Amino acid sequence: MRGRIKALWLLAWALIGTLFRRAFGGGASGLAAFRENYDADGLPPVTELERERMSEFQRCIACGLCDRGEAGRIRQSGGAYRGVMPLVLAGSRSMPDFRAAAYSFSFVSDEVLAEKERICPTGVPFRALAEFVRAKAAAVGGPLPLPTRVPSLAPKKPS
Ligand code: SF4
Repeated sequence: MRGRIKALWLLAWALIGTLFRRAFGGGASGLAAFRENYDADGLPPVTELERERMSEFQRCIACGLCDRGEAGRIRQSGGAYRGVMPLVLAGSRSMPDFRAAAYSFSFVSDEVLAEKERICPTGVPFRALAEFVRAKAAAVGGPLPLPTRVPSLAPKKPS
């Protein structure tokens, strides 16, 4: 019983605080409040249109066709990029992972993604997905920074 009274008291206190802040204009509200609360978690807001498109991003049936020919880019990335299918099935499914996914997408060009759109049996719009991931990553700090050196890669020759 004491716990319940304490919980009610805390809720009432929080409600009074919220009403007081709203009445006197303190603190952010709406989208600004959302961003203030969730940007640090890598969760920017999505628009109505983006929400509609998100269902198209989830059509993958894991056939693996889009990973054909990716060995070179996977090798070149030093492990940061593991192919298109892992990006579709995993990297782009959870928004807090989008900064890493945006970095991973940087290893595959839009031209290559366009070619893969032609062979994907379920019509996953790879370019739109990459654009969505990049935009959301940019809203919360951009792709994760490049490591200064990837141990598995030979140092770059000066150009
Ligand atoms: S080609 Fe399409 S369905 Fe097949 S693994 Fe790639 S995204 Fe999924």
